[in-house]
Amino acid sequence: PPYVFARLDELKARAREQGLDLIDLGMGNPDGPAPQPVIDAAIAALQNPTNHGYPPFEGTLSFRRAITNWYGRRYNVDLDPDSEALPLLGSKEGLTHLAFAYINPGDVILVPSPSYPPHFRGPAIAGGKIHPLILKPENDWLIDLGDIPDDVAQQAKILYFNYPSNPTGATAPREFFKDIVAFAKKHEILLVHDLCYAELAFDGYQPTSLLEIPGAKEIGVEFHTLSKTYNMAGWRVGFVVGNQHIIQGLRTLKTNLDYGIFAALQSAAETALQLPDVYVNQVCDRYRRRRDFLIEGFAELGWTVPKPKATMYLWVPCPVEMTSTDFALSVLQQTGVVVTPGNAFGAGGEGYVRVSLIAECDRLAEALRRFKEANIRYSSENEGAFIKQG
Ligand SMILES: *Cc1c(COP(=O)(O)O)cnc(C)c1O
Repeated sequence: PPYVFARLDELKARAREQGLDLIDLGMGNPDGPAPQPVIDAAIAALQNPTNHGYPPFEGTLSFRRAITNWYGRRYNVDLDPDSEALPLLGSKEGLTHLAFAYINPGDVILVPSPSYPPHFRGPAIAGGKIHPLILKPENDWLIDLGDIPDDVAQQAKILYFNYPSNPTGATAPREFFKDIVAFAKKHEILLVHDLCYAELAFDGYQPTSLLEIPGAKEIGVEFHTLSKTYNMAGWRVGFVVGNQHIIQGLRTLKTNLDYGIFAALQSAAETALQLPDVYVNQVCDRYRRRRDFLIEGFAELGWTVPKPKATMYLWVPCPVEMTSTDFALSVLQQTGVVVTPGNAFGAGGEGYVRVSLIAECDRLAEALRRFKEANIRYSSENEGAFIKQG
């Protein structure tokens, strides 16, 4: 584990021992319950003994059909439930095992920095040579494809990417998806898109699926999860869709590793994918309220934080003279509020902290009150400068 997380965990434990009331906005762990119809479906499925044995390796046909039907409804994308969809024990499991299935030691793997750690940890464990694609605020945190040297693109085997993005909250226009498909085709690179935040979008914004782009299925796969959309992080249900050869490789590896998801949970997951929009809208509304509340509160402290169109995170610039680790540690020590240092997501995250919108507005108000009391704020004359008095 990265040093920063270990150090943060230690300090969190110590702060708790001292009786400090921690407000933990560090992890991306949804704080709400799964929708009631999904819980009811799980209970009913538990009562059925045919669900109690080993599930089929490739997942139940009815869950795979629910996945491909959802893609058809949501994106108008046609997928074969037998060869182009595979249930996973959460998308993190699949993202990492895909790396084991495809990467040989020394293979060049393109990974944005900052990014969700499994996008670089999987390739690293597989022995891949990671070429970081440094993302920049002036490019709206989009990958700059023109910045990738030709010889690197020529050697590269896989490109991982994720929009709407954890940790930056950035979204990518459809044009970008077209460009990245063209780039991958030209250089024969496997595209791995993580669409974890497909449904957590606000203000009318609709995230794009890689598979909506013509030809994407020839060179790409897309990972999905029920963790965030349906508050089901602990249930461990995700899936991958797209190129059948890539999916076949992952399936073969997984037959040697696991038996897939408990059939009762696959049955409940079907119910989740068939829920009317009102459930997803409720989840989005909660995050949107919290986003707006916190951004307004930060503004009152003189702190300008960009408003993300999707995800459950704010990506907050650190004071200029502080590293993200020092800033996160000082915020924790002074206020008991836990945020994640940006460098935990790779060197490109330095200079930022990630704030997860996983507490109700009354707790966020308490966090803001403590920030104010501790004088954690920016100076408006000297943008980016950190003022701490007393
Ligand atoms: C939270 C998150 C996931 C979810 O992983 P699961 O293993 O499905 O719970 C995947 N990708 C990103 C970018 C995330 O932020």
